[in-house]
Amino acid sequence: MRDLFAVGANDLHLDADVIVAGAGPVGLSLAVALQAKGHRVMVVEALDALSDEARASTFHPPTLEMFGEWGVLSEVLAKGRAITHLQFWERETRELVADFPYALIAGDTSCPFRLQCPQSVVTRLLRPRREALGGSILFGHEVVSATSDLVAGHATVRAQTSQRIRTFRARYVVGADGSKSRVRESLGLTLTGTTYPDRFLLVGTDIDFAPIFPGMGPVSYVFDPREWVIVMHLPDVVRVVFRLGSDDANATDDAIKDEASVRARIARFVGREVAYGIQSVSTYSVHQRVAERFRDGRVLLAGDAAHINNPAGGMGMNSGIHDAHVLANAIDQALSTGDERPLDAYADTRRAVAVDGVQKASDASYRDLVARETAAREARNRSLRESASDPAKARAYLLRASMLEERIAPRASTVVAAHAGAP
Ligand SMILES: Cc1cc2nc3c(=O)[nH]c(=O)nc-3n(C[C@H](O)[C@H](O)[C@H](O)COP(=O)(O)OP(=O)(O)OC[C@H]3O[C@@H](n4cnc5c(N)ncnc54)[C@H](O)[C@@H]3O)c2cc1C
Repeated sequence: MRDLFAVGANDLHLDADVIVAGAGPVGLSLAVALQAKGHRVMVVEALDALSDEARASTFHPPTLEMFGEWGVLSEVLAKGRAITHLQFWERETRELVADFPYALIAGDTSCPFRLQCPQSVVTRLLRPRREALGGSILFGHEVVSATSDLVAGHATVRAQTSQRIRTFRARYVVGADGSKSRVRESLGLTLTGTTYPDRFLLVGTDIDFAPIFPGMGPVSYVFDPREWVIVMHLPDVVRVVFRLGSDDANATDDAIKDEASVRARIARFVGREVAYGIQSVSTYSVHQRVAERFRDGRVLLAGDAAHINNPAGGMGMNSGIHDAHVLANAIDQALSTGDERPLDAYADTRRAVAVDGVQKASDASYRDLVARETAAREARNRSLRESASDPAKARAYLLRASMLEERIAPRASTVVAAHAGAP
């Protein structure tokens, strides 16, 4: 590792090559990726421990490939549940609309499945990987500002502890401090876009859906014009997401989360009384927002600090981890050569992916789920059925849903088979 940290060539004391604000999945991924390339990284986290909030649980194939590169894939796979089919159902008729088998993308990725695993479990696997590479987390340090000094060639972070304000310097600072990012705020940037009017209810439970929806796979999107539902089976919990309808418009969050109300909602969904336990209940709103810029001099943004979107389809954290992958390479090049153009390329390409890729895809999946008019619902179901029944279309669908869109070009073998008139 290069010796930048005591007193540098220009007598500048640096605490690290890179300071990462936030020990969420994106900050820890970035830290592991940079440390694996030999850079010294300081992670500064406001909480006193890693967050255990029930949020993301879907990991798509490219993210799993990155975990392979960073040496944590086998641990992550061991803690998650590999999902081999993606299903869409109609709630009222209990009809299976479409089933997409991930085996169709076996030639496109080394991980042809989607993994369900809580993000709070994955951060607890990234942390020891970082420690093995020689890094710890400064817990209880809330970043209050981040500034870039282009002339002096460093960036400065100020962090509030329970006792005092501490100041740290590094060549670069990355704000991976989530949607309310203080780093972004310091740069005078906001997340611009929209907030959907709906609220959502997330229940962690142990319901066995097999007798209720015979044939239902472990991840199923259940369409309903009033109250659609997503069912996701994780290793230790079944997560059920309800989109709250107009009947709930005036209910407070506390009323929605009240146990009797949750049980009544689940009873309406399953259509009969069943015994089950409830592990967690939370409500959330959905935003589609992106920062104006992802870079200001020596300060950069990644993950939810830079972009947030509808979680249905599971693209927010995944795209943040993809930011970390691209940014680690860009910072590595900038630190090694002094050429900062890769940092601009990071900021431009990842913002374009957020705006033109993730925001559009997550908005489309939201609109599919909330479609109310009969014609729109029939068109959606027809399109899904057509895609699922044609292997080439089903593969393209799964590549898009798996964030592998750039691999959609037909495989050589498919082209040859098509010309040979093979089925
Ligand atoms: C219900 C729900 C389900 C979701 N499901 C999925 C899914 O299945 N797949 C998916 O891809 N995405 C999903 N998402 C989105 C996903 O949770 C986020 O995109 C992801 O958490 C972003 O990671 P991050 O590291 O950027 O930010 P965060 O996870 O928010 O982590 C930020 C970290 O920074 C810390 N921090 C905050 N402020 C400061 C500060 N000032 N100083 C220092 N530290 C600070 C926080 O304590 C936290 O540890 C879901 C979201 C919700 C709400």
